[in-house]
Amino acid sequence: MIVETNARLELKAKAADLSERHTGRSAQAVLKEVITTTFEGRVGLVSSFGTEAAILLHMVSRIDPYVPIIFLDTWKHFPETLEYRDTLVRQLGLSNIQTVTPRPDALKADDPDGLLHQRNPDLCCHVRKSVPMLKSLRSLSCWITGRKRQQAATRSDMTLFEIQDRWIKVNPLIDWTPEDVDNYFTEHDLPRHPLQAQGYPSIGCAVCTKPVAPGDDPRAGRWADSDKTECGIHFENGKMVRTSRPKN
Ligand code: SF4
Repeated sequence: MIVETNARLELKAKAADLSERHTGRSAQAVLKEVITTTFEGRVGLVSSFGTEAAILLHMVSRIDPYVPIIFLDTWKHFPETLEYRDTLVRQLGLSNIQTVTPRPDALKADDPDGLLHQRNPDLCCHVRKSVPMLKSLRSLSCWITGRKRQQAATRSDMTLFEIQDRWIKVNPLIDWTPEDVDNYFTEHDLPRHPLQAQGYPSIGCAVCTKPVAPGDDPRAGRWADSDKTECGIHFENGKMVRTSRPKN
């Protein structure tokens, strides 16, 4: 259960105020104010270097290429994702990539054979993503995400600014549509993730991501054999928030 302390209530009020103030503004305008004023020196972008990641990486690189870009290397990524990361880093001039990995002792204890994702994907995400993520955010007050309302029914009640534990989380692309995404890639001549053309519209760890058929829910290939729908970096009180795939 989440305890509503005074600090948490204040943070919630701040997020609500920021959401109200920035609603209707462009993603670039929101990011610029967050990076250069509201959370200057205390904000980072968490990026999976997935199919739509290039948009926020491009926007941030144009405002300040030294904003920390936090990449959670779970040791389970597709090699294509790592190559794509390197391409974008070079092409966009990103100058502050912070790669975070799971603790070796935690892997030894909880995932000695590397197959924890089959037995207990929540624990696997906790060890490989949530815990390293919490550590990487220690010096920050705000983190930027690429989450969008239209990506999943479980994201329909998102707001532009939210709180997560002691952090403010900003979702500048909250109202973006697939057309907005395509237009941005074209307009700025950004490279695509190499797996996108092979039927992967949403990409996470290789062992938990399958291609989807044209027209299917873009996230249907993520943890396709279970009701798990979120990647594990969205947490409260140091624990992953687990949401179930909506039943049809
Ligand atoms: S997405 Fe799969 S492999 Fe990656 S951390 Fe989560 S359960 Fe483990």
